[in-house]
Amino acid sequence: MSAAAVRAMARADELAACSERPGEITRRYGTPALVAARDLLEAWMLEAGLRTRVDRAGNLIGTLGREDRPGIMIGSHFDSVVDAGRYDGTLGVLLAIGCAEELAGADPAHDLAVVAFCDEEGARFPTDYFGSRAFLGGALPDGALTDSEGATLASGIETAGNAAAGPGSGLPANATAYLEAHIEQGPVLEAAGHPLGIVTSITGGVKLTVTLTGTAGHAGTVPMSLRRDAFSAAAEIALEAERAARDDGEAVATVGQVAVSPGAANVIPGRATISIDLRHQDDDRRARLLGRVREIVAEVARRRGVDAGIEMIHDERSVACDPGLGERMRAAARGLGLDPPALPSGAGHDAVILSAHVPVAMLFLRCAGGISHNPAESVTTEDVAAALAVLTAVVRDP
Ligand SMILES: [Zn+2]
Repeated sequence: MSAAAVRAMARADELAACSERPGEITRRYGTPALVAARDLLEAWMLEAGLRTRVDRAGNLIGTLGREDRPGIMIGSHFDSVVDAGRYDGTLGVLLAIGCAEELAGADPAHDLAVVAFCDEEGARFPTDYFGSRAFLGGALPDGALTDSEGATLASGIETAGNAAAGPGSGLPANATAYLEAHIEQGPVLEAAGHPLGIVTSITGGVKLTVTLTGTAGHAGTVPMSLRRDAFSAAAEIALEAERAARDDGEAVATVGQVAVSPGAANVIPGRATISIDLRHQDDDRRARLLGRVREIVAEVARRRGVDAGIEMIHDERSVACDPGLGERMRAAARGLGLDPPALPSGAGHDAVILSAHVPVAMLFLRCAGGISHNPAESVTTEDVAAALAVLTAVVRDP
């Protein structure tokens, strides 16, 4: 097994100690913990012979400096959700650094840029792929945005960003592709007994906030026939949205947030707000599902005599991964005796943002139980070694 894979695993453990709170992994944007993790990554990049720089948002970029040949960017993110696992995002960055180590002293057919994005999760500020958007030269989001404690994004940028770096795109001039290795965050590869999978597309999704307004009242005195119960309407909408996704067969629908007010056991809810997250690989079928959910909201609200408002929070199209890059990874995996299946990514990744500029491809690693965004995230060194060999071959070979 490659020493670089063993090292990547040890480094994931070391990075896990960079946390806002001891005893767990919480590394949100703009915190000293995030900067500490980046300092470690930068030291390892320098050891691997990469030239490094930090951009204005706080992304870390390491380059091999062989600008005379086509460039491949490999990366992922190093921020985390609250109480995270140690591999989501981080492993992708460590594999990219491992790739640089494996290529040391070789004459690869491609140039390599390792990109470590500072904020993919949006776990602290209400931002959306802030790191990769800023890397590509997009306008920074409003600095007045605040976290749950009232700290501003501007203060986060002051902590994590490099004020001396100009705006401008961080995309290397010779960039031809972006590759991202990531834990699957789902159970498919483990169930099928495959260490690796080739991602076909990153599933698009929409996120809605639905607000139902009825009439609050005494739980003991208002007869059922005269009620306008906002929560009962919300609950019916949630179940109908679930049914609509099941009817499609491939869509997923999730109601993950519910807020009820006034919020007392003996008061009929006058107002209820729910989130609805809808995802489908096929943009047309997702649009149909969205249309169906809008009908459900209107129909339930009418029947129950409540008012309904729908706010679209987020609407992302599906992104197709480059088939040629996928085939190159597959060929490299076959060389290791593996036959990685093709599968979609149900979760969003920085590759979504990069795809507007370069062809993208993703390599999934199986993770125990499909568990992610949880301290129980787990991968094997053998699988990490296989992923590293695949990435290295793609950069090394013409
Ligand atoms: Zn991730």
